[in-house]
Amino acid sequence: MTGTILQGQNFIDGGWRTGAVGFETRNPSDLDEVVGAYSKVGAAEVDEAMAAATRALPGWRSFNMQARADLLRKAGDLLMARAIEIGALLSREEGKTLPEGIGEANRAGQCFHYFAAEVVRAQGEWYNSMRDGHNVIVTREPVGVVAAITPWNFPIALPAWKVAGALAFGNTVVLKPSSFVPGCAVLLARILEDVGLPQGVFNLVIGDGRATGDVMIDRAQAVTFTGGTETGRAVLRKAAETMTKAQLELGGKNAFVILDDADLDLAIETAANAAWVQTGQRCTATERLIVTRGVHDQVVERLAAKAQGYRIGHALDADTQIGPVANEKQFAENLAFVETGLREGAELVAGGVAVERRTRGYYMTPALFARSTEAMHINHHESFGPILSVIAVDDLDQAIDVANGTELALSSGIATTSLHSAEKFRRESKAGMVMVNTPTAGLEYHVPLGGRSPSGFGPRESGASSAEFFTESKTSYINHGVN
Ligand code: NAD
Repeated sequence: MTGTILQGQNFIDGGWRTGAVGFETRNPSDLDEVVGAYSKVGAAEVDEAMAAATRALPGWRSFNMQARADLLRKAGDLLMARAIEIGALLSREEGKTLPEGIGEANRAGQCFHYFAAEVVRAQGEWYNSMRDGHNVIVTREPVGVVAAITPWNFPIALPAWKVAGALAFGNTVVLKPSSFVPGCAVLLARILEDVGLPQGVFNLVIGDGRATGDVMIDRAQAVTFTGGTETGRAVLRKAAETMTKAQLELGGKNAFVILDDADLDLAIETAANAAWVQTGQRCTATERLIVTRGVHDQVVERLAAKAQGYRIGHALDADTQIGPVANEKQFAENLAFVETGLREGAELVAGGVAVERRTRGYYMTPALFARSTEAMHINHHESFGPILSVIAVDDLDQAIDVANGTELALSSGIATTSLHSAEKFRRESKAGMVMVNTPTAGLEYHVPLGGRSPSGFGPRESGASSAEFFTESKTSYINHGVN
């Protein structure tokens, strides 16, 4: 895969289409390398994709369930069999290290396997009725045509998660990946074509966010969106016009607390991993570190050393631990974020600067701010980069107040050896996901994923909550006349 240019088109109604406007993607580790050549669709083609998905819906919702499960399992098998190829493309287009890219491709395969099994799970409940001779049945039906809109930071796992979930429950899909990283979505479309998914059941459109998204949301029965909170608000406003069901997975400003009684080796490793690995480009990354005063200075000193020790480099170099920032826009935003922290008076104790490597890329060192305060901009706004700021607190109660002090409420965590403190934090944290002695980032596919508004909206993604979003419930009262 390395070195070749992916020629990626749009997949509509079972055929490959070239859109009107061509564009290229470049490797964030090496800006001289073109990774993919794509074309963007216009509104008419998005309309065609939505119409194809609508036409395919009756056939797919009544498709033999064993055959549907088999198709999804086979797609999972192919994703895993091609994990190195997909991982390498992902590394070249998004900048994750190769092991991270391969891991993500395997995760995409696991999502398909999980949802293949979900196809055959019971989807209904039977009740006795209050009326003699009756009973009541609650069943679940596909929600319909699903618009899936994904961000750039997990270019294969997130499309797979959404597409597999939608298909498993009998829905048809139109996927719009981020135009920063469409390559993996193109490979996913090829795999779904190869396994023999019926025409129109899955469609891929590469296009501008709003222009494409608006048509998709208008014509779909449900939209599953992952991206920034402000974009999420726009999606929700649009969905309100047509009352399109919405599932939004949005930004975070995730806090990790270290108490005096923590196992410090574990706490440092955990905080560093969640803050800086994958270049901080995880919605669940730790951006705020809240530390009690007894261990504060030691934590800052050890984390500064840790930040300085990472090998930053080309995503495909074997010894690279942290790859480049994924794109120019995010790179500029990260450096501006560091400037804001400095202007606000936080002390930059490590990193936060652009660096050069053997190839031209968006490289920066992981940043650690100390002496930051709760009120600072850098402690309220998502950076989405490898930037961690430390806030000192007196005790657990203050730590919980500070952790809950931002609008965003996606993931949170605590390092402590006290069961009492861990449980108190778990109960009182307002985040949608709480981690004890483990990183705020790193999620599993068999349990619900998501945050409270405005970090999320609607039914959670993945695990058992998928059924809530991808199906509608129907309550039937049956007068069978048998008492
Ligand atoms: P983004 O919001 O800029 O874009 C996400 C997607 O929305 C892209 O495909 C984009 O083209 C599309 N889009 C843009 N405007 C649109 C509109 N008006 N209508 C419909 N679609 C539109 O986000 P990004 O920069 O690609 O990703 C980073 C963000 O994603 C971060 O805030 C991160 O926290 C969040 N994220 C959240 C989760 C989660 O599960 N909560 C997971 C990963 C990323």
